[in-house]
Amino acid sequence: MDDEKNLGPLRLLRRVLAARRGDVRAKVDLYHLRGVLTFVAIFAATIVLPGLLLAYYGVAGIRAQQRAGAAEVERVASGAGDNFQVGVDSLFKGFEDNTLNRLKSGQSVTSGLREISESLRVVFRYDAEGALRFPRSPDSEDALDDQELFFFAPWQAALRSERLHEFGRAAFFFGQAAREARAPDVKGQAIYARANAAHRAGEIFLAEQLYTEVLTGYAAVRDAYGFRLGDLARLKLGELRLGRDPVAGEAAVREHVDELLAEPWIIGRGGEAAVARRGIDLIAGRANAEWLGRARGRLEDRASQLFWAERLLPELETLGAKGRMLRVAPGEFSYSRTEHALWATTWTDEDQYVLGLDLEAVMAQLREIAQRSTSPQGDVIAVVRGPDDPEREPPLARRSLAPWFPNWSLGVYPRDAADLLRRQGEERQRGIGIILLSVAMITVGTVLSARLVQRELEVARDKSDFAANVSHELRSPITQIRLKAEALQLGLAPDAASRERHYDVIVREAERLSRLVDNVLDFAAIERGRKKYTFRPGDLGLSVARMVEAAMVAMETRGMDIQLTLPEDLPVVWHDTDAVSQVLTNLLSNAAKYGQESGWIKVDVALSGEEVLVAISDGGIGIAPEEQRQIFEQYYRSSDPLARRKKGTGIGLTIVKYIMEAHGGRVSVRSAPGSGSTFTLHFPLRPPGLNA
Ligand code: ADP
Repeated sequence: MDDEKNLGPLRLLRRVLAARRGDVRAKVDLYHLRGVLTFVAIFAATIVLPGLLLAYYGVAGIRAQQRAGAAEVERVASGAGDNFQVGVDSLFKGFEDNTLNRLKSGQSVTSGLREISESLRVVFRYDAEGALRFPRSPDSEDALDDQELFFFAPWQAALRSERLHEFGRAAFFFGQAAREARAPDVKGQAIYARANAAHRAGEIFLAEQLYTEVLTGYAAVRDAYGFRLGDLARLKLGELRLGRDPVAGEAAVREHVDELLAEPWIIGRGGEAAVARRGIDLIAGRANAEWLGRARGRLEDRASQLFWAERLLPELETLGAKGRMLRVAPGEFSYSRTEHALWATTWTDEDQYVLGLDLEAVMAQLREIAQRSTSPQGDVIAVVRGPDDPEREPPLARRSLAPWFPNWSLGVYPRDAADLLRRQGEERQRGIGIILLSVAMITVGTVLSARLVQRELEVARDKSDFAANVSHELRSPITQIRLKAEALQLGLAPDAASRERHYDVIVREAERLSRLVDNVLDFAAIERGRKKYTFRPGDLGLSVARMVEAAMVAMETRGMDIQLTLPEDLPVVWHDTDAVSQVLTNLLSNAAKYGQESGWIKVDVALSGEEVLVAISDGGIGIAPEEQRQIFEQYYRSSDPLARRKKGTGIGLTIVKYIMEAHGGRVSVRSAPGSGSTFTLHFPLRPPGLNA
């Protein structure tokens, strides 16, 4: 009738119909079922649904976070591109503004180039006709024929003497060369050389005379290195005068230097600059600082610009006729590029200025701006890319360098793409890990709670079974006793033998009734913790033998054989005789009930180490392994149909377990379905309450 612990859908339907018909049992089941459904609903609403929502939003969150991460890197890259562009714009704007400001205020743009731009190396100025006005070209200066000098015999002799440090002889041969020379250039050089030799030979007066002769007669002649003899002689005279009269000497040298620096700057004419430098060095210790600073600054400008002009002018000329570039409105700039220079040009009303920026220096500035436009530890780097540089990967952001460098660009790349990917992957895994862990915890929680609820439901069900079982168990002995007593009262048992049988039944059923009531009352007392025991040292074997003897008669009437094995001289065991007899009653009546078909029961008492064991065996239906622990739980009755056929309350073994625990011992079971069961009581030898 109640063999369905687990309700399948079909059974469920049958139950519902039965309940409708008024079946109480089915109603109770449905009541429990409603409880289960309510629990499931509450559980779904408060745990499963929030869990799923949590997981869903967690995953969505991770995705969003990743998108945001990628967007953030892109934003940083684009920011770096913008920074770079601002930097480059201000670099060129600064250059243009500085140039225009100078032009507008009438200042020179041909000196102090570094103040205009760090990379500016040379400025060319052309007039309206396109003629180069600054620096000047060497044009039609006569080149010196040094061949003539080199093979001139006295000149050779003089050089030889000079090498031997015979300066007097050298002066003599240079004098001879001067007299024999035909061309005035050669004559001038020979006189100058003679003056030097005389100077070195210590003939100061002669030297001064000869320098003066060079200065007056051959000042414009240039030597093989491009030096003007006049400049060289004047410098020598200044040097000699400095030794004699420092004030006058310094004034003379300074005047010479000033004149040199004021002269037009002619491409290829480095000699004047060298002479000026020598002059400045000569009086550096005496001249005033302001003059020195200005003179040196101008000299540097001049030397550097002439150097760069010489280098870059041929490149500029490849751009067009004499460096003419796009004509732009005054105040505007146009740019072109050659191999080593970036050219900027602008026009005033009458002149064109072409400003030559050193390409390498400009690139260095751009690279520096690129570097500054990203943070040093950031996720991106910025790289300036020329038209020939290979593209390493698609950039996160790109900025063009037009109009200055039409085919150039700035690319912003991940600093370490693999690392970036790895970091993003790790973050995602961490997120997913947390979500999975949460889901797993929810699942485990769900399973555990479901088990708990199932267990509670089973207990509730067992409890309701218990009430029904107890009433049932009470009714049959009472009915028996009443029937037999009434039969006796009405004289329905005529002979002594049948009366005897009636009395037997009345006694047996009364005993059964009192066992049941004892069990129920004891169980109630145990449950409330009110059960009291009186432990005394005594002969456990004797207590067992008495119980077996008492049971024997009842067993024999059922056709069952009971055997007792009892060893001699058992040690004394502390026990409560009443409690032990209840334990044995319960185990023997179970053995009789579930082992009736086999027809035998064995009771073995034995000493084993520190324990006395009492084993009650039967050859009956046995117990399934998975139930061997549950049968000791309160109200639990086996779900095996064979066992269910027998009447019972499910508290007998619970009482056994509690009583054994009170004795400081335990009860164990060994059983296999179909081949009987052995329940063993373990009594410790030490008095209960004393721990080992
Ligand atoms: P009950 O009143 O049902 O016998 P118990 O607590 O005494 O309650 O036993 C619990 C369950 O253990 C029984 O329902 C039965 O299924 C099983 N059981 C107990 N003793 C035996 C036995 N000797 N052989 C087989 N099954 C047993």
